Amino acid sequence: MKKIDFPLFKTKIEGTNRKFDLTDFNERQEYFQFKAGTEIKKLRRYLEKNTFIIYLLGKKNSGKGTYAKMFREVVDPQKIEHFSVGDMVRSFDAIVKDRSRKKELINFLEESYRGHLPLSQIIKSMEERSIKSLLPTELVLALIKKEIAKKGCKALFIDGFPRDLDQVSYSLFFRDLIGYRDDPDIFVLIDVPENVIDERIKCRVVCPLCQTSRSVKLLPTKKIGYDKTKKEFYLLCDNPDCRGARMKRKEGDELGIEPIRARLEKDNELLQKTFSLYGIPKILLRNCLPVEKAVELVDDYEITPEYNYSWDEKTKKIAIFKKPWKVYDDSGVCSYSLMPPPVVVSLIKQLTDVLNL
Ligand SMILES: [Zn+2]
Repeated sequence: MKKIDFPLFKTKIEGTNRKFDLTDFNERQEYFQFKAGTEIKKLRRYLEKNTFIIYLLGKKNSGKGTYAKMFREVVDPQKIEHFSVGDMVRSFDAIVKDRSRKKELINFLEESYRGHLPLSQIIKSMEERSIKSLLPTELVLALIKKEIAKKGCKALFIDGFPRDLDQVSYSLFFRDLIGYRDDPDIFVLIDVPENVIDERIKCRVVCPLCQTSRSVKLLPTKKIGYDKTKKEFYLLCDNPDCRGARMKRKEGDELGIEPIRARLEKDNELLQKTFSLYGIPKILLRNCLPVEKAVELVDDYEITPEYNYSWDEKTKKIAIFKKPWKVYDDSGVCSYSLMPPPVVVSLIKQLTDVLNL
């Protein structure tokens, strides 16, 4: 199969030295106004009377949710919804255990489910908790429709559908199924090198209290600690409610992408298949760019840095070193990985074009 050629995107504006701290909420808003203010205004005007449906496609852990949430935060949180099919499927476990919610769900399905498997069999497999492997597409569609109806008529980012090759053709008619007949639907394909995904998994830590995820190497918190016995640096959660809880690695994360390799292969096939479809506009986003093109295309602060630490026994202080993170992409090109905001700028601008605004 031919590899999809994700084009490079320029976010650098010539003749300016303005810098932004993209990890800071307020500076990030200023950054978006600076880089895409006109397009944001056009999108807001469009959303006053119109909607769209975007299908986010990318490998597991490619940052689909991050991009969608950031787009929503910047453009219009009231008029845009981010919908994760994975979260919806996971919440089934809780519903099935709760007698009244389960009854409500079954009533709904009796009215709206149409499919190959009998409803009684599906409900039985839900009770036996084997649901994740057995969830038929028709059922997923009925449930998405139910969830979306709850949110009212908003622009949608759908994350996690289509998930398998046999669901791709459903996505072509999805907007008709959920009653969004005249709204544009768009595929957004996200390219993230496997090395980036691997490193993100290996370095991530999670707050045991609020579940916020950070990275010792790529996205530290403001406070860092040093464990003398283990000779290891750790992060303290920034959330004031967590009172400096020590963030922890999840078991298995040290294996990186190995346990999800089959999933990544499948996601790649899914990307290829949707790329080859006719009739639906596609937006291509890339997370990486060759190091040698960086000066021409992006500003320094748009590149993901890597953090290294050292402990000074005399002063009892931690020194932090920051430099642009270099990583090899899937073709073996030495690359920089972008922070999420410049990727979202690319999305904002491409979407404005697709919608002819
Ligand atoms: Zn926390």
